[in-house]
Amino acid sequence: MTGAGEASAAIPVFLYHAVMEEPPDWIAEFNVTPKEFAAHLDAIVDSGRTPVTVSALADHLAGRAPLPARPVLLTFDDGFADLPGPTAEALAARDLAATAYLTTGAISPGGRSLLPPAPMMTLDQAAGLERSGMEIGSHTVTHAQLDTLSARALDRELRESRTVLEDALGHPVRHLAYPHGYNSGRVRRMAGAAGYETATAVRHALSSERDEAYRIARLIVRRSHTVADVETWLAGGGARVAPYRDRPKTVGWRWYRRARAVLRGPVFAG
Ligand SMILES: [Zn+2]
Repeated sequence: MTGAGEASAAIPVFLYHAVMEEPPDWIAEFNVTPKEFAAHLDAIVDSGRTPVTVSALADHLAGRAPLPARPVLLTFDDGFADLPGPTAEALAARDLAATAYLTTGAISPGGRSLLPPAPMMTLDQAAGLERSGMEIGSHTVTHAQLDTLSARALDRELRESRTVLEDALGHPVRHLAYPHGYNSGRVRRMAGAAGYETATAVRHALSSERDEAYRIARLIVRRSHTVADVETWLAGGGARVAPYRDRPKTVGWRWYRRARAVLRGPVFAG
């Protein structure tokens, strides 16, 4: 035991998107280069934390199995083209567990999504990605802002993406990541009803052994973040520790954004 109290209970859950040399402009803010990514992974190895999948965290939150001491989670959203290639290889070379959340409409033949054009992986690479050691979860069909949808559209986003991935993988898909991290009480309830055991949000906070299963906090990694930032998070600092109550500002932003989404459509926010 470190005796560091809350800091020792913090669990960093990193959220990556693309790992490319030359990303499209719209995702550049959330891209890290392969060289930076390798330095982050080396910092994770050096931290002595144990990388686990979201399933391991889910098993802990459900009381089925304990977590190893000082866990860390690596997650990858959307399904960019680097994921089943150099990114999965960089993880496998260091024996690091990770979880990928795939937007099925963006990776399926003839599929449609709200993501702007980018090099994406394909659905037929999903099984190989899993064999390489990466757990796979859903990131909906179209990458919609779930908290702005009708019940019917929301249910389709949750269930169709899950079915598509289950057909590709041949087993149940247990986990969801909310596009942009956006969720609400209704979205969380419907995610559970659609069969998901957990869902990850963003929250710009450290998760913990007491986090909420349907809005697990993640730290979004931006291009401006340094290895020192990653090391601070790995030490359990640099951000609040979930669970915590939303502040009024967060709630106000949610309502503003819902109104704007109706008028203008969504803006990419992770
Ligand atoms: Zn996303």
